[in-house]
Order: sequence, then structure tokens, then C-alpha cells
Amino acid sequence: MKANKIVILFVAALFTIACATNPLTGRKSLSLISNSQILPSSFQQYQEVLSSSKVITGTSQAKEVSEVGNRIKNAAEAYYKSIGQTSALDGYEWQFVLIDDPKTVNAWCMPGGKVAVYTGILPVCKDDTGLAVVLGHEIAHALAGHGAEKISQAYVAEIGGQLLGGVTNNEALRNVINEYYPVASGITLLRYGRKQETDADAMGIYIMAMAGYDPREAPVFWQRMVETTGSRNTPEFLSTHPDPQNRIADLNKIMPKALEYYKAAK
Ligand SMILES: [Zn+2]
Repeated sequence: MKANKIVILFVAALFTIACATNPLTGRKSLSLISNSQILPSSFQQYQEVLSSSKVITGTSQAKEVSEVGNRIKNAAEAYYKSIGQTSALDGYEWQFVLIDDPKTVNAWCMPGGKVAVYTGILPVCKDDTGLAVVLGHEIAHALAGHGAEKISQAYVAEIGGQLLGGVTNNEALRNVINEYYPVASGITLLRYGRKQETDADAMGIYIMAMAGYDPREAPVFWQRMVETTGSRNTPEFLSTHPDPQNRIADLNKIMPKALEYYKAAK
């Protein structure tokens, strides 16, 4: 058997073993690293970003970001508890911060629940429900372990054949983590892939609905986002979605399930 065939079989076997499943969307992802390996780097990087940004505290907008974020986070945690998967969130330290930057129409989340929202996105959000679309999407990235997935994929690509001998190369793993979280080098955030964005969209509207926010506002929000940003910039939300209409169509397809969660929350 050719070596590359063996590698493919091995990675397939690994995938079966080290595989995380999104409980809400059913999407499976490669997860070779644990929270304890990834979260310290993520938290350190988050602190670096905050220390070099204008973080707003005490205003009604900052409180809104924190309140909406925590409400969705609490609903998601209750859901994980109800399906007996609380341990999946071990080590998470949720934080929802507003950064003063009116020109940046963006928000992001680092592994372990470290979220940042820029003031530039608030006019697009319009209200709590619009903000819930953004925060639901970001919280979903953290819950679904999309950061761990990207690092796992990069790790497999980097050490490839070494996996054959069952060698766990900790130095290679450290290199990959450092590549994604280069502490002290400014804002270098994970860029999620298109499938991860679609997964976060779906999970995002389910958990916003669980928290009592109307999921039907999500397609409306994305339409506003397209109209606002056009092609002038590429926020995290639009960069990997060349066709926003597909995104809206995808959301409408899963809307009945989201509405069930919404009705149950009322
Ligand atoms: Zn995203």
C-alpha cells in the first residue's frame, strides 16, 4: 500500500476517534487537541488584543453586549446540560467586550468564549435581537470548537507522516498553536472556513432562539449587513461567504427548527 494511502486511512481512523460532533447541527469536526492545550494561548491573545484596544465599560451599549451575550451563553449552557454534555465546555471563561471602533463593522470570538464586538457593527444590529444574531454566531464558533478544528487540521498537515508512527509531536503542536495565536503580534485572529461559518450561522440562530430572541430576524440582519458593508470591507461574517443570498436561503431552510426552540423559550 502506498504511503499516502496509509496516511489517508490513518487520518480517517483518527477522525473517527478524535471527532467532535456539534449537538445542534450534527456537523462532525476533527478535534485532536483539548481545551487545556488551546485555551491558555487563546486567553493570552485575547488579553493582548484588549490591552491594545479601546475597551468600553459602563455604558448602556457595553452593558447590552454583555447582557445579550450572557443570556445566549446561559441558554446554550442549559442546553448542553440537558443533553449531558456540560464537560464539553470545561475551561471556558466567557467574556463579552465592546471595543470603541466605529469604522470596524465586525465581531469575533476566540476559543474558550472570548468575544469582542466593535461599535461599528451596532448600527447594523439596530437592537438587542440584531445583536443576538451576531453574538449567537460568535458564541457558536466557541461552542462548536471551530478554533480547535482549524488547529487540528493544520497540525495534521504539518506533521502528516509522523502520525503514522503514533508520534505525538508536542513541538509541532506548539508551533501550530503559536501560528494561530502569535501572542504580542497584534490582532491575528482565526479565519474560519466557509463550512464553519455555515455551522455557526445555524447553531447561532438555534441558541439565540433558545435565549428567547426571534430567529426570523437573522436573515433580516444579514440583508442589512450586505447593504451596509457592500464590497467596501470584508468583516468576519462576509469574508468567507461569497454569496450572502445563499446564507440567507440556508437560514430560512432551518428556520422551522429554530422557531421550535423560540416557542419553547417563551
Ligand atoms: Zn463566523
